[in-house]
Amino acid sequence: RAKKDLNTNFGFYELEMEEKTTWRLGLIRQLRTDFSARKLELWYQPQVDLVTERVVGMEALLRWPTSEGFISPSVFVPLAEYSGLIIDIGAWVIEESCRRLNKLTQAGYDNVRMAVNISMPQFRDPDFVNMVIRIVTEYQIEPARLELEITESVVMDEPQIVIESLRELKAFGIKIAIDDFGTGFSSMSYLQQLPLDRLKVDRSFINEIKPNQSAFIAETIVTLGNRLGLQTIAEGIEKREQASYMLKLGCDEAQGFLYAKPMPYDNLIEFLDEQKSKG
Ligand code: C2E
Ligand code: MG
Ligand code: MG
Ligand code: MG
Repeated sequence: RAKKDLNTNFGFYELEMEEKTTWRLGLIRQLRTDFSARKLELWYQPQVDLVTERVVGMEALLRWPTSEGFISPSVFVPLAEYSGLIIDIGAWVIEESCRRLNKLTQAGYDNVRMAVNISMPQFRDPDFVNMVIRIVTEYQIEPARLELEITESVVMDEPQIVIESLRELKAFGIKIAIDDFGTGFSSMSYLQQLPLDRLKVDRSFINEIKPNQSAFIAETIVTLGNRLGLQTIAEGIEKREQASYMLKLGCDEAQGFLYAKPMPYDNLIEFLDEQKSKG
């Protein structure tokens, strides 16, 4: 009897797996179609200097509107990576970001940076480095205004390719940040080998403002960044107290709903104009 139950359960589990696979494949197919039809969007979330609270940059974030609402990038980016679609989507993200950076310059915002998330499969593309340099050149972007965000897992996956590529991009003047820093369980030795500019303190260490374990981790990351001569930015700042706490720790910048949510380009321009008029 026990054996029979086990069999039944196994059958149900298999069915669930199959449904999940079908769902995933459907989503990948829809993503491919929608990307080709230019339905993906890039939204922008401001990043501010913690001392002056002025916008110093922004992060470009993919948005996928569908008839059933927005599908989260945490759902579709992994599928895009798995299917290889991220190579083309990622190239579009870089091009679109640079096009907008160029527009921002024309609008008088010639100092703000643009941070773009990069996935592992993009580094495996042998044309990746040249492609980035080509786009930056084509849109006449000051290379230091483009920042690539990679997670620790990207580095650990294929350290040689990533280190080589980042060194070339850095030599060209592009900035490099480690995203979600502290969540990757990776070796610290790569911090010396990578040409880094910035550590992004993961949101999970910001949630608490009392002196508890995650606050100690946030403090350690900021100290580590400072000691290594890197800039630090706190992700996911939602409350004023979190901002002042991070400022006290010596963190340079912040990004989060307290300042602004990710928004389409037109709203970003409005946001920047409004800030400028406030002086
Ligand atoms: P990420 O790169 O760590 O991006 C930050 C995420 O935190 C964004 O989620 C942003 O909307 C969210 N966030 C910002 N401030 C706050 C806050 O105060 N509170 C909370 N609760 N959340 C906040 P989003 O846009 O859903 O993106 C999720 C992830 O998807 C990104 O995490 C990134 O890993 C990936 N992703 C997004 N766009 C791209 C892309 O163009 N390329 C690649 N490879 N990955 C992307
Ligand atoms: Mg990011
Ligand atoms: Mg992050
Ligand atoms: Mg992330």
